Amino acid sequence: MIGERSAAVVGLGALGSVSAQHLVRSGIGRIRLIDRDVLEWSNLQRQVLYTEDDVQRMLPKAQAAAERLRSINSSVSIDPVVADLTSSNAEQLLEGFDLIIDGSDNFSVRYLINDVSLKRSIPWIYGGVVGASGMTMSFIPGKTPCFRCLFPAPPAAGSVDTCDTAGVISPAVDLIASIQAAEALKWLSGNSDAMQRTLFQVDLWHHRYISLDVSKSKRDDCPACSKDQYDYLDDREDGVSAVSLCGRNTIQIAPAKGTRIQLGALAARLRSAGDVEQNQFLIRFRRDKEMTAILFPDGRALIQGTEDPIVAKRIYNEIYGI
Ligand SMILES: [Zn+2]
Repeated sequence: MIGERSAAVVGLGALGSVSAQHLVRSGIGRIRLIDRDVLEWSNLQRQVLYTEDDVQRMLPKAQAAAERLRSINSSVSIDPVVADLTSSNAEQLLEGFDLIIDGSDNFSVRYLINDVSLKRSIPWIYGGVVGASGMTMSFIPGKTPCFRCLFPAPPAAGSVDTCDTAGVISPAVDLIASIQAAEALKWLSGNSDAMQRTLFQVDLWHHRYISLDVSKSKRDDCPACSKDQYDYLDDREDGVSAVSLCGRNTIQIAPAKGTRIQLGALAARLRSAGDVEQNQFLIRFRRDKEMTAILFPDGRALIQGTEDPIVAKRIYNEIYGI
């Protein structure tokens, strides 16, 4: 039964590593792995699918995850996608799947997943971990409140601990992702009645576990699930965007939709301006000790060594002006 079902995992960091591994070992039919990032040494502390060799090979997480998962269960169809989930591609990347699993680390992606879930009637399983604390809930369109009912607006910048300030311990990740995987197996095996309908919270440091009853939390004025208004999905940004990545001293620059870069030609140009390493998935360009850029074929760049979007955009423009 599970062999005929499919899931998309958004984010192949700590949470996504664990939930994807459980699903692949359980023999799911098809899994899509969506991640925008490249592996770094510090990821190995908690992202259990990866090895030092993967980091040395400069692999994007989606690719490294796909390699490892194929070696675990070759009968599963595994589809890695190295991309940022945005309003422009979210529907296309997630439609047709039986389930979406949240392995992301930010609210804007979760609102986007929530919109796709409601619009396409695909359940999704939220998970988040900061420090030794985590939270998870299964959102089933028409059966539960939606993510936006529970969290009407993103937390104000600086108002909550994020992984920027707090770090993460890996047992907390394992616990939350394992619950996500268990809920996924219930849904995919046709046992939705067994799914948790509560918002589960854990604080492993103080050994506290709470299940919040949210069955009456559906809001009649919720734009997403009560009014079919998909604000995050409809917010199409066509220009260049810059976002800070959690805890990384890194800014992601994403170009206008439809950009494609010839990595070989770009690498050749950049060699006159700094150190260039290249594989089939990306270029790593080190201009000086302070600044490294990871450049992808879809025109995205991770500018490492700054937290300032304006500085990062300037560097991005300089790279493409070389
Ligand atoms: Zn709602």
